[in-house]
Amino acid sequence: MKKILLVHTGGTLGMSGRRPDALKPGSFFRTVRERVPELTELASLEFEVFSNIDSCEMQPELWSKLAERLAKRLPEFDGAVVTHGTDTLAETACALSFMLPGLKKPVVLTGAQRPLGEIRSDARLNLIDAVTSAIHGPREVTVCFDSHLYRGNRVRKVSIAEYDAFDSPNHPVLGTLGVDARFSEGVAWEGRFKLTAQLDPRVFLLRIFPGLDPAIPMAILPRVKGLVVEAYGAGNFPSSKELGRSLTPIFERAKDLGVPVLVVSQAHRNGVDLSQYESGNAARTHGAISGGDMTVSAAVVKMMHGLANHSGDALRKYLERSVAGERT
Ligand code: ASP
Repeated sequence: MKKILLVHTGGTLGMSGRRPDALKPGSFFRTVRERVPELTELASLEFEVFSNIDSCEMQPELWSKLAERLAKRLPEFDGAVVTHGTDTLAETACALSFMLPGLKKPVVLTGAQRPLGEIRSDARLNLIDAVTSAIHGPREVTVCFDSHLYRGNRVRKVSIAEYDAFDSPNHPVLGTLGVDARFSEGVAWEGRFKLTAQLDPRVFLLRIFPGLDPAIPMAILPRVKGLVVEAYGAGNFPSSKELGRSLTPIFERAKDLGVPVLVVSQAHRNGVDLSQYESGNAARTHGAISGGDMTVSAAVVKMMHGLANHSGDALRKYLERSVAGERT
């Protein structure tokens, strides 16, 4: 029997209590044994409580500790399942994928929209599918939800109340868990596994919208080490001087301050191409880096990871290339 480590971090999956009261983290593993006894027929499981938090409390310091924990324990196991709240599950999956490069074991994150202890909970199937994916799925960080397995750093949360809570707009699923469970190949890792658990959270995400006063991001720039711009379409933003709202000076100032700027798109499908329109071109001239088809979450977390581990040209190259399959 394969050995799977089940690490609980919290979230709705393990909560108890009646809605509309706030759901509180409950005694998770007892409920797992009661509600999903067949998990022990699938694999030899070891349970570990890492934390018991609503995932809105997840922070980079916890990501680093979780990555260290997994790196330490995984040699004894064939794979791991991490149970997590859905709100920041995408960010945690991104962080783990960047901190555990060259991973040769499956690490599968899952959660639920309804607690395991409740009738019609999606937690039961998600847990069974996640353990199945940790046994047979690709050797990388993935997210298993609603009968699908996704590349971890490609997902975004798209639903608050439907069971298909995640999608992966720019990457095909890595597995479908229907009557049969089918999986595709994972990341083709170059190089050996290396834990890089450091992150620098001094990052700011600027979402462009009509009417944005450039003075606001300008005032923020000196306080950040990296800027992610969530631009329009192919990587566009207002650059006309007419109404005093050109954002081009933000890119100029960032360059002067040595703050790397990574541009991703508000459009979920396809990727940024800064050469396509005038404003994107101006940003490129001032050193902005195209985030391609990365999700916003992947761009923010990759910036944190890049800042802590690289600088100068090496940081630019790190942001531009695919590290863990996060960009095409
Ligand atoms: N607020 C919860 C969390 O992210 C939602 C969930 O688990 O689905 O922890």
